[in-house]
Amino acid sequence: MAYNPIVNKSNKGRPQTPGQAPGSDVPPIDHVIPEDELERLSTLQLVDIISHKLVMQGALPSDMSLLRRRVQEMEEMQDEARNAVEKLSEAVDKLRAPALRLGTLMQKLAKGRALVCVNGTDYVCSVDPALPEVQLETGTRVLLNEAFAVTDSFGFDKNGPVVRISELLSDGRIRVGNETGISDAVVVRSSLLAKEKLKPGLDLRLDTNQRVAVEIIGTAKRLDRTLARVEPIPWHNIGGQQEAVQAIRDSIELPFLHAHLFKRFNHPVPKGFLLYGPPGCGKTLLGKATAHNLRLQIKAETGQDHPEFFLNVKGPEILNMWLGESERQVRDLFAQCREKAAEGHLAFLFIDEAESILGTRSATRIGSNILSTLVPMFCTEMDGIEPLQNVVVIIASNRADLIDPAILRPGRIDRKIRVRRPDKEAAREIYRIYLTPELPLEKERDEMVDTIVEAHYAKSDENRFLDITFRSGRHDYLFRGDLGSGAIIAAIVERAKEFAIKRSIAQKTECPITIKDLSDALQKEYRENDLFPPSDITEDWLKLTDFDPGNVVRLGPYRQTETGQGPSTI
Ligand code: ADP
Repeated sequence: MAYNPIVNKSNKGRPQTPGQAPGSDVPPIDHVIPEDELERLSTLQLVDIISHKLVMQGALPSDMSLLRRRVQEMEEMQDEARNAVEKLSEAVDKLRAPALRLGTLMQKLAKGRALVCVNGTDYVCSVDPALPEVQLETGTRVLLNEAFAVTDSFGFDKNGPVVRISELLSDGRIRVGNETGISDAVVVRSSLLAKEKLKPGLDLRLDTNQRVAVEIIGTAKRLDRTLARVEPIPWHNIGGQQEAVQAIRDSIELPFLHAHLFKRFNHPVPKGFLLYGPPGCGKTLLGKATAHNLRLQIKAETGQDHPEFFLNVKGPEILNMWLGESERQVRDLFAQCREKAAEGHLAFLFIDEAESILGTRSATRIGSNILSTLVPMFCTEMDGIEPLQNVVVIIASNRADLIDPAILRPGRIDRKIRVRRPDKEAAREIYRIYLTPELPLEKERDEMVDTIVEAHYAKSDENRFLDITFRSGRHDYLFRGDLGSGAIIAAIVERAKEFAIKRSIAQKTECPITIKDLSDALQKEYRENDLFPPSDITEDWLKLTDFDPGNVVRLGPYRQTETGQGPSTI
């Protein structure tokens, strides 16, 4: 509707005023509309008023509406242009504005304030009341406006450096060490870590201001018990284990040396093997010897030298109280082996006491569900290894029956190799390995070896070592020889050497190792060897024997006082 403030006003009988059109009784607009109202009128409204006056003087209404349309279009264009310019200058202003600061929220304070750290300096800042409380936890990243008021929160900052815990202070703060390049500092826990159990050695991530620990990263340190190189162990340095040695050579050396034949006959190649048998009988020794000899064999056959990388870990070391940490360790072990293999090494992963992490759930005394995740994860990692790609996995256990069958499926660790306790003949071999020809000996070497072996393996009263009662009521004894091992024999010889050295020092002349030295060492070893359980608990001793626990009522150390025997000598 066109605007016309003078349409109802009659000007009849009015005298002509200056500026009035001659012969017209219509006064000029500025005489009819007050000046301030006139100022507020748009061009279009002005056109409406003037056209109305012209119509009264005979101008055609259609001409006037044409003019009005044009002016309207012009006005609309102008409005659009103004809006565009306004938006543009707003954007330019935004681009020119200085950046807002980010800080780490250290602590919420009373009266809507918070302690915030910005670039190492602490500020007490006002907090926008519109921000929800939950977004304002210790350790969160907050946005500060020009007035340093907290206006937004971006959650926990996870971009800071990783540091290692060196000490846990009694008030909950954490001292972080300098191993990772950051000098000693004391930091507070973020709300995320408020209730976490932490321990020295664990890695944490700090906020970017390095004041708050916000995340547990785990133990970055790879497992300690790793051994990159093994000492040279020729097969003949392992006594009495011919069967095991042959089985290892057949299952590992042959496929590596004759890969084309295995392929031609489509014969599966193992990725590793299980060594099982009592403690101290050479499982670790066999593992290391495998690495050393395989390297030599490959070098001799192909001319290529792949230095061995032997990763030696004990199952219980992998078990960790941190949720997910054991899994990370296992993945990391495989990753390390793959990395080394890719660099051209022959990588061996040797896991001792494997039943503790790869056992069936009923087999272990661990109350947690850790095995239910470790076993499938180990299997996945095994499945990811390509056979003959220079990664060999060896697991060792005293109790093969406890290992989860999933681990022992074809394509994973499908060779089980038994490592036996040395019998008399094997013991002879082992004594010969340690009583080397160049040692000063009282008598001829073979004679000494025969004598000590006889003494060690005699089924004499003085060699009675364990007392066993069967469910049937039958009573029997186990003798020292029944619980002999390579480790014990090696220890007996070392102890005998010590006796000879002490005597040599006392007598100021070289005294050879005597049969008595060996015999005394034998007595002492069986009394003190830490391969034997410290207590009388039947269950612990049973682990050292092959007896079916169901058939045994009691098994424990034989007490010499029962027979009234004194300390024994050969
Ligand atoms: P396991 O791994 O079966 O518990 P180890 O291989 O660690 O036993 O043996 C411990 C030590 O005992 C070896 O380092 C080695 O000195 C000695 N030993 C064990 N078995 C033999 C063996 N058959 N021949 C020579 N030495 C042996």
